[in-house]
Amino acid sequence: MTGNAYADDLLLRSAKLVDDGWDGGFSPSQSKETNPIDAGLADFGGGVALVASFSHVVALAGSTGLTLVDTSLAALAGAVQNSLASWSPDPVDTIIYTHGHVDHVGGAPLFVKSNADAGARRPRVVGHANVAPRFQRYDVTEGYNSRINARQFRGRRRLGMDSPDEQARRWGVDWVWPDVSFVDRLALDLGGREAVLFHDKGETDDHAWVWLPEQRVICGGDFLTWVFPNAGNPQKVQRYPAEWARAMRAMAALEPELFLPAHGLPIEGRDRIHRVLIDVADALESLVSQTLELMNSGANLDEVLNTVRLAPRLAERPYLQATYDEPEFVVRNIWRLYGGWWDGDPSHLKPATSVESSIELSSLAGGAQRLAERAAQLSADGQHRLACHLIEIAAKGEPTNASVHAVRSEVYRRRRDGELSLMARAIYSEAAERSAAISGVESAAPDGTAPDGTAPGEP
Ligand SMILES: [Zn+2]
Repeated sequence: MTGNAYADDLLLRSAKLVDDGWDGGFSPSQSKETNPIDAGLADFGGGVALVASFSHVVALAGSTGLTLVDTSLAALAGAVQNSLASWSPDPVDTIIYTHGHVDHVGGAPLFVKSNADAGARRPRVVGHANVAPRFQRYDVTEGYNSRINARQFRGRRRLGMDSPDEQARRWGVDWVWPDVSFVDRLALDLGGREAVLFHDKGETDDHAWVWLPEQRVICGGDFLTWVFPNAGNPQKVQRYPAEWARAMRAMAALEPELFLPAHGLPIEGRDRIHRVLIDVADALESLVSQTLELMNSGANLDEVLNTVRLAPRLAERPYLQATYDEPEFVVRNIWRLYGGWWDGDPSHLKPATSVESSIELSSLAGGAQRLAERAAQLSADGQHRLACHLIEIAAKGEPTNASVHAVRSEVYRRRRDGELSLMARAIYSEAAERSAAISGVESAAPDGTAPDGTAPGEP
């Protein structure tokens, strides 16, 4: 414990969750407990603090000024800055990026500008060598990223993102490029405080985590987010589950006493931290090894997806809930990483257009309306996967049929309501809303967020 009430509250919460699990089992509303975002400042002593924001900012005091590990979202950086000002009057000397996702780098322009306004030296910005190529990739995929982020994070108004459009507009941030980059490992002197940056792939290929040997503190970036690892995201580039697991084991081997993640609760205590890191590693490694074994034995993607499962002992952990990403998506990413994009079905190698095949199948089934009726029945029976297939064929077979779209809207609304992960819910929500608009029926509740409304931000 630290003597700082806010820090102690966060540490007590994480201790209880890690030691005892959920009280009476997990329910989606409980995941709010794991993700503080109120810009409160947790002072851990020894010049180490964390500002809890959508993506947390860790502040380290040193003789040359403050070091910030990440800068949060552009929209929240002002609140972070105010919170920091109550803790230290010193200017920001160094910014370390754990990776180049916008909720980690988006606040950097504000800190750079504030130094300039105050006549202070521009902060030194440190990041992995792949941060710059990431920014370049974002610049050439701006339209795509604006769309997928508007879809994935619809309903994020309380985070200062007024609407998906507003958020999409903000996507084109002015990047603050790293001045200092590294490949494997980098030792830094942060005004008298020793820090070692390590690179591992995980959620991204540009990830860094920070080790403060004197204080035995790790700033873990997105390697721990208090939800199931974001290693499968259906709309994003490749992620690295096996490498992610190795990073968790490397962190555990250092025996940290305080772990500061970029999302979720800080954790205190060597054994407790060890347990969390190893559980995350076990979960990812289990998905990787099951998938590889099946691939090596000749299974196709369909068989892999229907066979690989996460052990219940891991699935129930408070820090492994699939409220954001989910194991099924991670399995797909493992397949893509080791195998490629072809799923093993020869008809999928060079398929007919989905409209062509839908028209053919609709006509064979006796029309799109017949298919829609069957889809509605399957949906009502809880067979959501099958229902979605049938209603897609119906809607593509007769794309302007309002009654087919009315069913499609309802099928996807039900599908969404049965899902836990933000990623799945957002995609199904969008499908429901599109069909509601075509059919003229009342729109499904426009909620694309996870049931609790909280989830770590990225890309
Ligand atoms: Zn993040």
